[in-house]
Amino acid sequence: MSAKLDRKGNRTMAAKGDNSGFARLDGLAFPQFAPGTVWLVGAGPGAPALMTLLGYHALQNADAVVYDALVNEEVLGWVRAGAKVEYAGKRGGKPSAKQRDISLRLVDLAREGKRVLRLKGGDPLIFGRGGEECQVLAGAGIPFRIVPGISAGIGGLGYAGIPATHRETNQSVLFLTGHDSSGAVPSLLDWSKLATATQVIVMFMAVRNLGQIAGKLVAGGRAAAEPVAIVSNATLPHQSVHQTSLAALASGEDLSQVPTPAIVVIGKVVSLRGSLDWYRDALKENGLG
Ligand code: SAH
Repeated sequence: MSAKLDRKGNRTMAAKGDNSGFARLDGLAFPQFAPGTVWLVGAGPGAPALMTLLGYHALQNADAVVYDALVNEEVLGWVRAGAKVEYAGKRGGKPSAKQRDISLRLVDLAREGKRVLRLKGGDPLIFGRGGEECQVLAGAGIPFRIVPGISAGIGGLGYAGIPATHRETNQSVLFLTGHDSSGAVPSLLDWSKLATATQVIVMFMAVRNLGQIAGKLVAGGRAAAEPVAIVSNATLPHQSVHQTSLAALASGEDLSQVPTPAIVVIGKVVSLRGSLDWYRDALKENGLG
């Protein structure tokens, strides 16, 4: 692609032809999606337009798409006609497809010579088991590509007006999961050390255990007044943000009305939201992003 710029930096010519909008993307020399390979694509946190161009290219070229629960089904409308679309998540209380079965399904589809797109919410390698699926593919000798996505733990905060880092506030940020494979607070984490090890903590899948976790952090020396934000349905028109404190959570605040999926942020960056909250009602009308 060679977008031409004039001396003032204004674009003068389209890459190929003078198409506008997405039609212009068709002229880009994207990497070939070869038959018999698997692409693990991050769909982003929710809003369809937060998918990457490479992800969009993959949707347009895949023969089979296997997608997860938190993927916005709007993006499935971008799959090319005739492609097979399979759901591999948990819904309506039915048991989730077993991880091993999903990985083997990807292997089977690739062995049938299909271009297989594995579509996951956020980034495929952040609490998304993408690494496990790649291990199975590697073991079976199936070539794969990873297409990163915007994680809810970063993009979701941005939509709530909360910077993950801010120069005056924090020089570190930690991602953790609030439950282990049994649903309990992860026992492999040393909560007393985590409490003061980092200025900002971003938690996935943490709402159910949040009271317990807040208690462990305060017991480990984290200030009880520390602000906390719970960002639900981030980047979507029904996004909502609940602000609270570690103290309130540790003393048993009722979170039963807080919708999920939700991302939890602990730290002073939460206070910046007071002036940076930009995703207001008028902007939510456009469901694309
Ligand atoms: N790979 C994903 C995370 C998968 S784990 C990523 O990078 O974003 C699933 C958890 O992600 C949810 O329980 C929730 O904590 C968070 N999450 C995903 N989508 C979200 C959204 N739109 N709003 C808030 N949290 C979200």
